[in-house]
Amino acid sequence: MSNENKTIHEFDFQLICEFFSNLERQGPGSPEATLQALSFIDNLTDEAHIADLGCGTGGQTMVLAQHAPGQVTGLDVFPDFIDIFNRNATQLGLQNRVKGIVGSMDNLPFAEGSLDLIWSEGAIYNIGFERGLNEWRKYLKTGGYVAVSEASWFTDERPAEIHDFWMTHYPEIDTIPNKVAQVQKAGYIPVATFIMPENCWTEHYFASKVTTQEIFLNKYAGNKSVEEFITLQSHEEELYRKYKEFYGYVFFVAKKL
Ligand code: SAH
Repeated sequence: MSNENKTIHEFDFQLICEFFSNLERQGPGSPEATLQALSFIDNLTDEAHIADLGCGTGGQTMVLAQHAPGQVTGLDVFPDFIDIFNRNATQLGLQNRVKGIVGSMDNLPFAEGSLDLIWSEGAIYNIGFERGLNEWRKYLKTGGYVAVSEASWFTDERPAEIHDFWMTHYPEIDTIPNKVAQVQKAGYIPVATFIMPENCWTEHYFASKVTTQEIFLNKYAGNKSVEEFITLQSHEEELYRKYKEFYGYVFFVAKKL
């Protein structure tokens, strides 16, 4: 297919999706962090219904499904991720319990009060932390849980360079106490909050991107959009290594009142 008729923006979006399709996960995280968050959740049975919103290709969803009972629906806005997701579920023999569907987290296809657990790793930022917590609550049963990871500040103050970077990319980033207060205000009991270890970024995210970056630069040699995209990724990684005492991903586990 030719890209001539596409706007730069559409073309970039396709490229970004193609890039991330090649990775096991599309954001910082690890099987250990997923299981740690799951360890706080005590309401699941074989009849449970779990939704993983912004599931990507399902790295964390499969870990979740292998350690929790019930039906798991992964939802993502990008169809190619969902194809890979469903292929992964079948390969792991989970196809009867785990299903990926295309949809948007701002318009969920679930009945109100039908979910036992809403999971979302590195994805709630797409509609915003507070908005997601508020809007998703009605889909949960009373006593149901939400478990989301979200970029957060570790300190009240931080160097201007990293502050400005986040203000440009996600101004809703906030300190952990402020995020916990938002959880409570949205009608949940904050059950557990923990900082995801550094290896969620270094080992499970940045390291896995190296090969894909090389393949991409070869495949699209001379393509400015690709070069800029890879440069931005390297910049993000450099900033993380330089300022990791000041921010990271935090898991918030909470129960609907
Ligand atoms: N949870 C995965 C993916 C995180 S990346 C992981 O931890 O690896 C964020 C994901 O959110 C991407 O897969 C992206 O396609 C998806 N996304 C972005 N906007 C969305 C929306 N409005 N509804 C559902 N998914 C969305």
